[in-house]
Amino acid sequence: MAAWTRGSRTTQRCPACRAPVIKQLVGERAALNVIADLTPLTPAQQAELREPNRLIWCLRTNSLGQQRLLWLDPWHPPDCRRGDHVAEHRCPPAEPTTLF
Ligand SMILES: [Zn+2]
Ligand SMILES: [Zn+2]
Repeated sequence: MAAWTRGSRTTQRCPACRAPVIKQLVGERAALNVIADLTPLTPAQQAELREPNRLIWCLRTNSLGQQRLLWLDPWHPPDCRRGDHVAEHRCPPAEPTTLF
């Protein structure tokens, strides 16, 4: 009952493609406005997605149910069990409109 009275939820939708994403300010000094996907990635998918322009984050959920993105240090294990690893959100390429 009253399942809807949840605490602060950071998940929302991408204004462009409507995909569910998590939006958060990360970092202490130079805060970075991060938009990340909510789909957990396998270690293989992380290796595939890892590139200089796309960051991968560790999505932790605390005891209050609040989700927080954590920066992945180089030594962070790709198969860590403390959170889901998610990639920075990128909108999928627009569907080609089928116009005659
Ligand atoms: Zn992790
Ligand atoms: Zn999008």
